[in-house]
Amino acid sequence: EERIISARQSAEDAMEVSLRPRYLHEYIGQSRVKENLKVYIEAAKMRREALDHVLLHGPPGLGKTTLSTIIANELGVQIRTTSGPAIERPGDLAAILTNLQPGDLLFIDEIHRLNRSVEEVLYPAMEDFALDIVIGKGPSARSIRLDLPPFTLVGATTRAGSLSSPLRDRFGVVCRLEYYTVEELTQIVRRTAELLGMSIRTEGAREIAVRSRGTPRVANRLLKRVRDFVQVRGAGVITLEAARDALDRIQVDKMGLDQVDHKLLMSIMEKFRGGPVGLETIAATIGEEAQTVEDVYEPYLMQIGFLERTPRGRVVTPRCYQHFGMEMPR
Ligand code: ATP
Repeated sequence: EERIISARQSAEDAMEVSLRPRYLHEYIGQSRVKENLKVYIEAAKMRREALDHVLLHGPPGLGKTTLSTIIANELGVQIRTTSGPAIERPGDLAAILTNLQPGDLLFIDEIHRLNRSVEEVLYPAMEDFALDIVIGKGPSARSIRLDLPPFTLVGATTRAGSLSSPLRDRFGVVCRLEYYTVEELTQIVRRTAELLGMSIRTEGAREIAVRSRGTPRVANRLLKRVRDFVQVRGAGVITLEAARDALDRIQVDKMGLDQVDHKLLMSIMEKFRGGPVGLETIAATIGEEAQTVEDVYEPYLMQIGFLERTPRGRVVTPRCYQHFGMEMPR
């Protein structure tokens, strides 16, 4: 069963394209990223050139896909969307590249998952807008170069560290998305509520924001669940009490932690005296893959200062013990 606080995209989220901000001025937060992008976009438009390639990295659900659509809208170009795992062979990528119109934006989500042979097609495409094709086999094989229209590649990844350096070096613009502040998330919740035609008090929006793990996608999802409770009760307005009550029932605690987080942290405290404990062991206790734990679960727990990574393994902090009302072992 999918966790309500999961930052991974669900089918319900995907239908909410209309909730997505379409231009930079509607995109809340990430102000440094926004200001820089604004300048680069304006400069590219003035020169009538394609924008330099952009790498967006950061935890899931922070709006990388949204931002890439916004970049295309601001540039006034078309966006083609694909993902690392979807491009299996070099020919798949060649087909996509040769179908681009001048100036188009190609968005590759999870770009760290491109395989090596596909990546090698990307290098000359990014650098020279060219495609090197090998014709024939054996001694008579030769390579010809096809020109591509100038385009902008926007790559998104949760793990910038897993990108090969030749690929990383070919991005002229690198943007790191940060977790959103409670104030920013409150604005996002209010904006979404308005788009959904719901009435909400600022304190209600704030309560949802506090429990959203710094992540807009989670905030919007919690808002929808809170709305269900409020509508069924016939109250009509999302007040602080209504939000609190609904979120408690959904079992998302005051720090935005759910049952899986509880299990993860409790097992480190109860079975391993607070750590250090290895990633694989933690993954096994909650039945997830190590990489998922590392990319999806841990970043937020570290962000709120509940978990630390040390050379000998993960350790739980005093703050975490405090949250659970537990005594720290000596
Ligand atoms: P990522 O690609 O980083 O995993 P994403 O871009 O797919 O995340 P979205 O699905 O776009 O994440 O975000 C979920 C929802 O949150 C969007 O539909 C949009 O309504 C809202 N949202 C995200 N970022 C912002 C923002 N900065 N301002 C306002 N709304 C936002």
